[in-house]
Amino acid sequence: MKGIVKEKTYGKYKVLSLDNNLDYLLTIRGTLKREKNIFAGDYVVFDEGNLTIEDVLDRKNFLIRPAIANLDYLIIVSSIIQPLFSYDLIFKYLTYANSRAIKPIIVISKIDLVDKSVLDEIIEVFKTYDIHTYFISSKTKEGIEEIKNLLKGKISAFMGQSGVGKSSLLNCLDASFKREEGEYSYALGRGKHQTKETILFPFNEGFVADTPGFSSLELNLKKDEIAKFFPSFDRFYPDCEFFDCLHIRERNCKVKDSLNNNVIHKIGYESYLKLIQDVDTFRR
Ligand code: GDP
Ligand code: ZN
Repeated sequence: MKGIVKEKTYGKYKVLSLDNNLDYLLTIRGTLKREKNIFAGDYVVFDEGNLTIEDVLDRKNFLIRPAIANLDYLIIVSSIIQPLFSYDLIFKYLTYANSRAIKPIIVISKIDLVDKSVLDEIIEVFKTYDIHTYFISSKTKEGIEEIKNLLKGKISAFMGQSGVGKSSLLNCLDASFKREEGEYSYALGRGKHQTKETILFPFNEGFVADTPGFSSLELNLKKDEIAKFFPSFDRFYPDCEFFDCLHIRERNCKVKDSLNNNVIHKIGYESYLKLIQDVDTFRR
């Protein structure tokens, strides 16, 4: 039978059969054990008699921390306030998703706390980087239906600092997720997060991953990788004069041309420069 791993529990794997839609608790066949790390989201072939996983199918992508495979969407959740909205952080997450070959989605939360006019600039900035921005409030339920439709038939994981409202959003999507919502702590400047391991929950013909927080994301990319994986730069860099162009001071740089022609918004490019500078700071 073929199935998808929903979670790892006490050394066993809870696998949803794609043949009969039942859950199985499986171990890994001995010889497979040494070769393969199995993650939530992995598609496996299993023996329903021995209750063993016999093979793991190739992944289309994966993350290690948190451990998850075959994501369709990495949903970047960022609050408009509390904690404060940051373009730099979102562009960093976007670059990360691109570097892992996962399609990123931006969801801006807590829009009940601000005047809607502040959202226009955000829409505009990300539009120039070819990214649609979704806006939600878990308080007023605005935008929630749109997210439900987006997730249909997909495997999605949510990332973003603690306190941005990921748990609240999950609970809005489906009350049975029963995620504990941490109070945003003004003293610490952050909320708390509770999840320890990745668990996939069936949702709207797909799955939603409940993951441990990605609160301290390390990009771990070299400058030339950032220059390629930064959102929408792949539209331009193949036409830069130098194949290793960092899009800063090089001549005939198509990224700089698109910046100067207002094809891409300068706010994003400034975030790009900061990501490049961070590499020097940490001497990688
Ligand atoms: P997480 O750490 O990302 O999972 O964030 P939580 O879902 O625990 O939310 C952190 C805090 O923000 C809680 O006090 C929530 O009640 C609050 N919060 C979450 N979403 C919203 C929202 O849409 N509007 C408002 N006003 N508060 C929200
Ligand atoms: Zn360039």
